[in-house]
Amino acid sequence: MQAVSGKQRIYLSSPHMSGNEQKYIQEAFNTNWIAPLGPNVDAFEEELADYVGIGDAAAVSSGTAAIHLALKLLDVHEGDTVFCSSLTFVASANPVIYLGAEPVFIDSEAETWNMSPQALGRALEEAAQARKLPKAVIVVNLYGQSAQMDEIVSLCDTYRVPIIEDAAESLGSTYKGQASGTFGKFGVYSFNGNKIITTSGGGMLVSNDLEALKKARFLATQARDQAEHYEHSQMGYNYRLSNVLAGIGRAQLEVLAERVVARRAIFNRYYRELSEIPGIQFMPELEGSWSNRWLTALTIDEQQAGISRDQLLRSLAEENIEARPVWKPLHLQPLFEGTRLYAHSENNIVSEQLFESGLCLPSGSNMTEEEQMRIIACMKNVLKKHIALN
Ligand SMILES: *Cc1c(COP(=O)(O)O)cnc(C)c1O
Repeated sequence: MQAVSGKQRIYLSSPHMSGNEQKYIQEAFNTNWIAPLGPNVDAFEEELADYVGIGDAAAVSSGTAAIHLALKLLDVHEGDTVFCSSLTFVASANPVIYLGAEPVFIDSEAETWNMSPQALGRALEEAAQARKLPKAVIVVNLYGQSAQMDEIVSLCDTYRVPIIEDAAESLGSTYKGQASGTFGKFGVYSFNGNKIITTSGGGMLVSNDLEALKKARFLATQARDQAEHYEHSQMGYNYRLSNVLAGIGRAQLEVLAERVVARRAIFNRYYRELSEIPGIQFMPELEGSWSNRWLTALTIDEQQAGISRDQLLRSLAEENIEARPVWKPLHLQPLFEGTRLYAHSENNIVSEQLFESGLCLPSGSNMTEEEQMRIIACMKNVLKKHIALN
């Protein structure tokens, strides 16, 4: 894809600093708390736990590390299966194979683009019959939209399977008034550079099980036993967040609510300008839920729009605009060849349809209105041309 030079690049989602980060970083430098752990880490954990309304939070080096620790705490090992949403970033499922366990993928449903309760129900029923229930279910909240948590929690309760809520993309979202990421045994957030708030890299594991989070901190610092000398009876990891980066996180958390408002405004502007165009359908927001709209996502019906998703992506790229296809479902990834998928219904694999027709538009909270209007103008231009020709 050749970009036309001279036009300023518009990114999908770039870091957006508040200006206050320097204050916390300076504090870390002034007190020489450069080493991992320290007052910023403790404060960031407490402030985030308060924000989402959960018992405790453990700051780690990435969202992926948080998922890995959650699976480890649930005693996932070789020979186990773990159910996971298929329509997601690979990081949701990679930790399953770190532990030698087998992922089984669950399809999406149209209402939320997230895990289909219908498919999950079938998968759990079959697993129970085969006397091989999964050790955990990893539920992803795609692009900020919560999954149908009532249905999913109720199904998992019935079979007594713990939930890990992958809320890497949905920090700041709510479902029936409750913070996204607080519905499972464990919740996971990411502060990677492209997420709604960032520490440049980092993650958080949250839970109401305080003992489990103590154990998470232990495992994340090389599983060091109580002793003057370095004593180890278990295998651990080096997974804690640095005190400098936690300082960035504290300042970012202060503006999280603003960032959600900004991303929702971006979604609303796209919606206002583009939703009337035939063949365009925006990602829905489930009634009773409130999405942070991390990324504005939509599908293009090629028949109606007269143009394919990929043609539209190419036109945007020519204008130096970074848009992306929706995640490629994990059951289609070569890495996971041979794994099972539970489809939404027999002749309907929703995640594949979303992958074929879906795209994400630039949604960064620091994008200007002018930049967004440039994207909108490009899309209108391309789409109207093709519709006229039809
Ligand atoms: C970003 C992301 C992760 C991983 O987070 P990192 O901090 O990058 O390791 C996990 N799951 C989903 C759905 C993500 O989008």
